Amino acid sequence: MNSKTPPSREPLLPSSTIGILGGGQLGRMLAVAASKLGLNTHIFCPDRESPAFDVAKFHTIAPYEDQDALKEFAASVDLVTYEFENVPAKTAHLIEEHVLLAPGVKALKISQDRLLEKKFLQELNIAISPFEPVSSPEQLLEAIKIIGTPSVLKTTRFGYDGKGQRIIKTAKNAHSAYKEFAGKQLVLEAFVEFDSEISVVIARNASGQIKAFEPSTNVHKNHILHTSTVPANIEKSTANEAIVIATRIAKALQYQGIMAVEFFVCKADKNANNTQELLVNEIAPRVHNSGHWTQNVCPTDQFEQHIRAICNWPLGQTERMANVVMRNLIGGEINLIPHGLSPNDHPHIYGKSQSRPGRKMGHVNAITPL
Ligand code: AMP
Repeated sequence: MNSKTPPSREPLLPSSTIGILGGGQLGRMLAVAASKLGLNTHIFCPDRESPAFDVAKFHTIAPYEDQDALKEFAASVDLVTYEFENVPAKTAHLIEEHVLLAPGVKALKISQDRLLEKKFLQELNIAISPFEPVSSPEQLLEAIKIIGTPSVLKTTRFGYDGKGQRIIKTAKNAHSAYKEFAGKQLVLEAFVEFDSEISVVIARNASGQIKAFEPSTNVHKNHILHTSTVPANIEKSTANEAIVIATRIAKALQYQGIMAVEFFVCKADKNANNTQELLVNEIAPRVHNSGHWTQNVCPTDQFEQHIRAICNWPLGQTERMANVVMRNLIGGEINLIPHGLSPNDHPHIYGKSQSRPGRKMGHVNAITPL
């Protein structure tokens, strides 16, 4: 893997325009951060009701496959970034032909395909859960023989919030699990008996400067992130190790922007030096829900850091100034706002007109002094 730093590029100046593919809450919070730095944003999203439109100077409503609209969009901005990793490859390539895309196509490609991602991590000698590719019922039975049960069968593409995965408890479950995903490329992973889940949100700019935020402990409910807590409930050496691993990934990808690396924290082998062991679960090439805590306790939050990184500005301070628990407001939980907010609760509401079960509507950062 070539980890040489590419030639540096000139910083993008205030009053330039950043194009953002995707108009959800992440695009919205990126647009606000850009505006604080004197940069304009142009949101491209097919959804008429996109929450990011409310806070951006320009927007385009068109499908991600609309080549004419994409060309016009690319011509109207100085740089393009994205708020979701499932940007179609063709869209990303077309944009890249016309204007700088940051993070680039390589990070997108790897994070869109669990198999490519696992192979990339293996090449870097980064520990992950054992896995086998699966593309037929016979291959699944073979994979179960190698990996054992319980194990997790996942689609290699378009999985999020627990969608596109099934736990296989015994080989007898294999058939029904396969049928659900038949025709798709799959991967069977060993089930990890983790103690906890953490993530590291890290930034790298085109000049090669890197800054990480502290890891957070992440708890999921119904496969959706429920809380992120910092400091994380892990040993100091484990936190340092997680940042070292995230840094290696960012360098190997010659990454530009914010990236989140999610880990399982497991009990280490009795003979190991440490008591905790880390396995990488997945990489997200974008600002991440588990980085929202930075908004109220870090001098630079993940959104400003992303904008600084893609514009090749010097990165900002990431030190944490208070303890924090980020809690997502899902579906009807948004109706709790503003009742019951204490002075230490800092709400961030996404301005979505309709709440639906499972839909992320906002979050609250509850902070307490160090
Ligand atoms: P993913 O879409 O891969 O991030 O998975 C969503 C969630 O499912 C993770 O955050 C874990 O809680 C759980 N999960 C995924 N893979 C495994 C695994 N191999 N072993 C145990 N739990 C897993």
